[in-house]
Amino acid sequence: MDLIRLKSLKTDMEKCFRCSLCKMIPLPVVRHPEFTDACPASRLFHFHGYSGSGKQIMALSLLDGRIEPDEALARAVFTCTACGYCDVACKFIMDAERHRVNMVLREHLVDRGLSPPAHKKVRENLRTYGNPKGRPERTAGAWAEGLGLKVLPERKAEVLLFAGCVPSNDPQSAEVVRKLARLLLHAGVDLGILGDAEPGCGLPAYWMGDRDLFTKMASDAVSIFSKTNVRTIVAASGSCLGAFRSKYPEYARAPDVEVLHATEFLLRLISEGRLSLPRPVRARVTYQDPCYLGRQSEPYAKWEGVERTALGVMTYTDPPKPVSRGVKGVYEPPRQILRAIPGIEFNEMYRIREYSFCCGAGGGVPAAYPELARSAAQHRLTEARAVGGELLVTACAYCEAHFRRVQEDGGSQKQPEKMKVVDIIELVYEAAGLDG
Ligand code: SF4
Ligand code: SF4
Repeated sequence: MDLIRLKSLKTDMEKCFRCSLCKMIPLPVVRHPEFTDACPASRLFHFHGYSGSGKQIMALSLLDGRIEPDEALARAVFTCTACGYCDVACKFIMDAERHRVNMVLREHLVDRGLSPPAHKKVRENLRTYGNPKGRPERTAGAWAEGLGLKVLPERKAEVLLFAGCVPSNDPQSAEVVRKLARLLLHAGVDLGILGDAEPGCGLPAYWMGDRDLFTKMASDAVSIFSKTNVRTIVAASGSCLGAFRSKYPEYARAPDVEVLHATEFLLRLISEGRLSLPRPVRARVTYQDPCYLGRQSEPYAKWEGVERTALGVMTYTDPPKPVSRGVKGVYEPPRQILRAIPGIEFNEMYRIREYSFCCGAGGGVPAAYPELARSAAQHRLTEARAVGGELLVTACAYCEAHFRRVQEDGGSQKQPEKMKVVDIIELVYEAAGLDG
């Protein structure tokens, strides 16, 4: 079955002419000569096989029987943060599905038992506990203790706050979601949660190439959401938003209600005058676009058509296939919020929006190849310092926790001074005057 999926992408693979654009920022948008790398894997390993292009060539070689699936191939495929940068970069010059090839290649290797040992453990944890870290330190709903929130579906509410799995093992992340809940209550939102029944969004299973597990987790989550009868689901973390908006419709089905990220919903409340930000926050900040809030949250567009050949060599799709270029991700709401907070001096990094550089937390890389995950985060922190940031703001629990951990456990290299990393929700909370 997975070979059929790989075969369906063969034309995309064949279209790679090894220009290496997928390793770097396109020249017209380069803003600093030291920050032109774009693929965390090829930046660290300096070898074409680790790039997006390398994976296209290996997938084609596999299909053509020139290589066999083995551990060397698995290492090249899984040392990739699934950030989707190569997909966006390649589409600067042609319409080819690089990210989809990368992910189907993972699925092919997983089906042959060739996933990294650390991923097998994480997938087992997801299957057993719905949480990548294993038995969570606290239950899924423990973050909400004492807030008196309605628990759905026994009770009814207009808005469901989806916390995500990180808060059950990370007290700082739990505090971020508590602050989001308090902000929403303060704005008069009719709010509910799923409490201990909140399912995992399943994104780590997607990252690790476990198609069956991700499809099941997505279907289960959508069924649970359907029973709540809410109008809107608000995802606290950018990672969950990317799963709901882009990957669920592709692998299972989309939630049948509006799904927004916290920054989209908070901006709506600010625009409607339901939430004001009167208190200045004096800080020089810069912003990390999380991959699954940005380019990987572009809504999935289903296509049913055929591929045709003209003049013997040119291929085209009939009807034309929609192309995801990553530009419809969530980029503006966090920026508009930062600009709405008085006292903040906001400087952009050199690589932003769909050309943003991954923090290294995705793709299951921290579990299996921590040196790659650490290298990506440290490189991004260097960029944040280079633009004069004293505070690195992000909008994804995975990014925030990863940047924090990398700075706490910097490995053998000498580390520069630590940079404070916060979720944007914390700044909104402070600006709303809710922190006393
Ligand atoms: S994947 Fe695209 S950008 Fe990368 S080498 Fe191939 S054609 Fe060039
Ligand atoms: S998804 Fe990201 S890490 Fe993986 S090959 Fe593409 S650019 Fe590199």
